[in-house]
Amino acid sequence: MAIGMRFVCRGCDKSIEAWDDGNPYYMENGRKQYAYHPSDLFELCIGNDTPHLCLSCGHEFMVDSNAPITQCPKCKADMIVCTTMLDGKACPYCKQGVFVVDSGWHAIS
Ligand SMILES: [Zn+2]
Ligand SMILES: [Zn+2]
Repeated sequence: MAIGMRFVCRGCDKSIEAWDDGNPYYMENGRKQYAYHPSDLFELCIGNDTPHLCLSCGHEFMVDSNAPITQCPKCKADMIVCTTMLDGKACPYCKQGVFVVDSGWHAIS
């Protein structure tokens, strides 16, 4: 079971949804396949792609647990953060607001 949460920027209303378990994957015929829950495939999973956000340019991208990166693939800034950790972070879109947890939004998958 995964818990979803949503962060909203107080400055520009940009919202980003995050799931606490990322995107677990397994390999099949050399290709990455995501295991969606509930599924027995979790036992086959060898890695996890977790969504990250660049706090410099606002680029959203996946970070593979088997090939972690510390820089934004777009602008090379090292201000990248997992989208589940956005609480209190400065918004890269309006450069003014900060992200706060949207307490009125809950999702369970
Ligand atoms: Zn903003
Ligand atoms: Zn960037």
